[in-house]
Amino acid sequence: MCAERADVKPNLILSVLQNKCPRCRRGSLYKNRNTYNLKNFMVMNERCPTCGQPLDMEPGFYYGTNMVSYALAVLISAFTFFGWWATIGFSLQDKRFFTWIAVNAVLLVVLQPPLMRISRTIWLAFFVHYSPGWSKGDIIEPERVNRDQAANW
Ligand SMILES: [Zn+2]
Repeated sequence: MCAERADVKPNLILSVLQNKCPRCRRGSLYKNRNTYNLKNFMVMNERCPTCGQPLDMEPGFYYGTNMVSYALAVLISAFTFFGWWATIGFSLQDKRFFTWIAVNAVLLVVLQPPLMRISRTIWLAFFVHYSPGWSKGDIIEPERVNRDQAANW
């Protein structure tokens, strides 16, 4: 793969979908590769295993993730709404609208683990950008951290 070379910039969308560090787009953010291992699928590395970027930028950093998660849920719902409208259609004379609501709700529940991970990845990418010199070590260190309260929220 071309991503083996340090001077090749991996694709942003692919690196987000694969939950890669936004700084080097190579290291995994999560310790567990299995998204549906529900006991520990959200456990993150303290630092990117490839470039050393700290992944917890400040106390409560990932609270902002809920806005990204909400936007993704609305986007998926809009996508299924128009897909349903174009293929099955809606009517007030039968239950097609309520069937769409049920199908969409089940889909969102099933997709929740990957959506939670991707939301964190996108949120982190808002604050940490790709660095062409990632292998040379211009790491963005967090301004303030509280080790005692890390992962305690
Ligand atoms: Zn990295």
